[in-house]
Amino acid sequence: VLVKSGSDLETFSQLDHIVFDKTGTLTKGEFVVTKVYAEDKDLILKLASHAESKSNHPIALSILKTYNQPIVDADIEDFKEIFGHGITIKYQGKLCLVGNDKLLKSHHIVYDSPKINHSLVHVAYDGLYMGYIVLEDELKISAKQTIDTLKKMGKKISLMTGDHEFIAKDIANKLGIDNVYYEKLPYEKKQIIDTLKREEKVAFIGDGMNDAPVLMSADLGVSMGMLGSDLAVEASDAVIMTDEPIHFIDAIKTSTLTRKVVLQNMSLAIGTKFIVLILGALGFANMWLAIFADVGISLIAVIHAMHILSAKNEL
Ligand code: ADP
Ligand code: MG
Repeated sequence: VLVKSGSDLETFSQLDHIVFDKTGTLTKGEFVVTKVYAEDKDLILKLASHAESKSNHPIALSILKTYNQPIVDADIEDFKEIFGHGITIKYQGKLCLVGNDKLLKSHHIVYDSPKINHSLVHVAYDGLYMGYIVLEDELKISAKQTIDTLKKMGKKISLMTGDHEFIAKDIANKLGIDNVYYEKLPYEKKQIIDTLKREEKVAFIGDGMNDAPVLMSADLGVSMGMLGSDLAVEASDAVIMTDEPIHFIDAIKTSTLTRKVVLQNMSLAIGTKFIVLILGALGFANMWLAIFADVGISLIAVIHAMHILSAKNEL
């Protein structure tokens, strides 16, 4: 875990509430297309792939991988990526929508959305509903252990995602998270963090894409180093290099230990100086005692601080 400053390291030990992003943070963010529901499956995959061809959202990458055919750039016009909604393009001159319920509702498309525990991408073309694509993602190996450990430490935990209700609640159930915010747009995520921040110290852990404002807003913003976008890494206070959430716990432990050692060293240094000062005033201190109180104590403090390095293995 790379921590950007000393005060950020200190914040790790003071957190009350930890808010996790879903995709790419608790789940791997490697979606696999498992089903396509449509009359013409090839057509909706073709439409979806053309729409997603300019996006680098994890959903886009997996749809393109499934389609696995060349994209005809000449057919695409007016590409628009709407964060938290999906994509709109003109495909062969007609409007094509590829995204979630919010996107289709905002264009007044009529259809029945299935209530399933997976991420969904709906496709509409020229005002007509075409069908949907089911994408599945897996939990990261250390996700459950991270949540369990944080609970034992007495922290409040929330899940916050732009994805729909059923998948959000399913993931929260599997991990034992009680508090879920779902179907949130990036600016709504920021508002939630701003409200929580008034009462408690809040950390937000996210992978990026459009999480930068939330990462900046939280008392402590933590991003994923491998999967996360450059912007998210830039906007965060700490970066988990291996993308496994469990390292967040290591950082909390290191922070708590560092804080303890700093306080011990400060009391030692100031305490010794104070005693020597009094002894000096009473005429009992010589030059060597003064040197010990200054340089000697500095050396002891450094050696004591170095034990954090070896204690890391015991954490
Ligand atoms: P999360 O909060 O899980 O990281 P995002 O904010 O990136 O999710 O996206 C929220 C939702 O918006 C996604 O679950 C998806 O339904 C929709 N969405 C975003 N970008 C795309 C895209 N490129 N293609 C299709 N759907 C998208
Ligand atoms: Mg995300």
